[in-house]
Amino acid sequence: MLTDPLLKIRQEFCIKCYSCVRICPVNAIRVDVNSEFPSIIPERCIGCGSCYRACSPGAIIYRSSIEETKILLSSGQKVAAICDPMISGEFHDITDYRKFVEMIRQLGFSLVSETSFGVDLVARKYKEIFNNFKGKYHISANCPSVVAFIEKYYPELITNLAPIVSPMVATAKVIRQKYGPDIKIVFIGPCIATKDEALKFEGDARIDAVLTFVELRQLFTMFNIRESQLEFSDFDPPYGFKGNLYPISNGILQCVDINENLLTGNVITSEGRHNMLNSVKEFDSGIEMIKRHFNIFYDDGCLMGPGTSAGGEKFVRMSLVVDYANKRQNTVDNTTWNTDISSCENIDLSRQFLADDQRLPIPPEEKIDEILKMIKREGEKDNEVGCETCGYTNCREFAIAISQGLATTDMCHVFSRRNRQEYIKTLRTTNEKLARIKVALKESEEKAKQEQEAQKETGDIISTMLQKLLSGVVIVDEKLKIVQSNNAFIRILGEEASMVDEVIPGLAGADLKALLPIHIYKMFSYVLATDEPIENKDVQHEDNKISVSIFPIRSHKYVGAILRDMYAPEVRKEQIVKRLTEVIDESFDTVQKIAYLLGEGAAKTEQMLNSVIESHKNPTKS
Ligand code: SF4
Ligand code: SF4
Repeated sequence: MLTDPLLKIRQEFCIKCYSCVRICPVNAIRVDVNSEFPSIIPERCIGCGSCYRACSPGAIIYRSSIEETKILLSSGQKVAAICDPMISGEFHDITDYRKFVEMIRQLGFSLVSETSFGVDLVARKYKEIFNNFKGKYHISANCPSVVAFIEKYYPELITNLAPIVSPMVATAKVIRQKYGPDIKIVFIGPCIATKDEALKFEGDARIDAVLTFVELRQLFTMFNIRESQLEFSDFDPPYGFKGNLYPISNGILQCVDINENLLTGNVITSEGRHNMLNSVKEFDSGIEMIKRHFNIFYDDGCLMGPGTSAGGEKFVRMSLVVDYANKRQNTVDNTTWNTDISSCENIDLSRQFLADDQRLPIPPEEKIDEILKMIKREGEKDNEVGCETCGYTNCREFAIAISQGLATTDMCHVFSRRNRQEYIKTLRTTNEKLARIKVALKESEEKAKQEQEAQKETGDIISTMLQKLLSGVVIVDEKLKIVQSNNAFIRILGEEASMVDEVIPGLAGADLKALLPIHIYKMFSYVLATDEPIENKDVQHEDNKISVSIFPIRSHKYVGAILRDMYAPEVRKEQIVKRLTEVIDESFDTVQKIAYLLGEGAAKTEQMLNSVIESHKNPTKS
């Protein structure tokens, strides 16, 4: 038999609505923190099928038994179908149950029987236990989800589970006793948890496959089996009597007249998800006060089992079951039934249960508080009540599940909405900031562009002006490489510099050392190192006398220099003007004295000297 997990979630169909998480009664569905997809934890699952029913996109599927049934049917071995009496509630579209039996035979089953006889047997065992109270109250063990729930979440109650096999297993034993131990058995029913229950039994209790009603319908479609083409065929014996009431929760009690009277009876029947959880909880905490046995089913009996077709209505199904049970009990021959029951007296219907504790440790209070604080639900009231949209009854339960790694904070819609709002707010602020930065960037880009253009313009002007100057001008950097120079400078340096200028216009980047004699080069080094200017220093360069002024432009970074060829005519005139002016200034006192002595003669002397100066300033007048 296949041992794939009973249920699985197909992520490709999952819309992350978490309906499955909310409905799971035992927190067996974990949400992955990273992918946010839910996944079923098989060890924690009790096979109730609630998640399967709640998943509207059909992302959850259960383990199919169609292929293994087909293999069994084509194996050449004898295969018996044993049908749950819930067929009456499910297959009301088939006009007569005998047509239904024939349809199953058409699939290749060599024998078609019903589990109602197994119900009759098991119910008698319950009557024995309930009527012979020996100080211990029991919980019925017919619903496999209830059994799994107790084994996993109330393991100390396994000794209170009635030690009796389910009607499915009892029927398998009966069939093997009657038709031989080798016969293969396929159970057809409304439940999916029976698929896992069947895995637990071997020998004469073995169930070789479990088909849900939905799977049976699929097989009918697959093999194109329709009742209109078929004749009646009855079930193979043994026939059940009142066991056909089994799909209704208290049907098993009524089929052997177990006293349900509120005043005189000692059995409580509980059905449905909520009631199942509460009844086990109360049995655990207060059986000494309750003082009654419990007959518990997870679903509304088997009427609404997850293996039935979707859309069924509970009370319609219940009525159909009752009608069918009535019809069948009227056709059963009491003597035959009694004989059949007697022939099964020797069949061992006992069962044991295995504790499989899946309870998770409760985290320390500080941890719970920390999580409640994180999801901003630390208020006292939040601990007691909750919106339950996360799937947990209150915020405290939710915080515990987060701590146990079963849930994530995003499952709280209040928290995620608040987070989203904060995120949107942060996004908005960031966007506004970004917009402001963008504008500022554009402005500064514009400004930089303008400054660059202004600088270029100034540079061009300075460069043009430099070229117009008669004196040589050069600017060098900290490595004494030429940054800028004018034509007069190149002219003063001589022919070699002119040749370099042809290759590197303006000598930009040229090494000053290679172009100037060492004594002038050293003057540049000196100013660069000391920041002290050198003014009008006359130096010899080749055949020329040069007046050199060197001054720092930026401390230890840039140095500028003005070089004048003292033999150049314009410089000579300038020098004569300068010297004469100095003579006039220096001789002014003397001239005044002479003027005082010579009267008008002094004015003439000054006039004469000025005209000399003028004539040198402007040669055309001379
Ligand atoms: S079958 Fe039931 S117990 Fe298992 S995961 Fe689904 S809801 Fe939970
Ligand atoms: S019920 Fe669960 S598996 Fe189905 S779509 Fe919603 S989250 Fe996914």
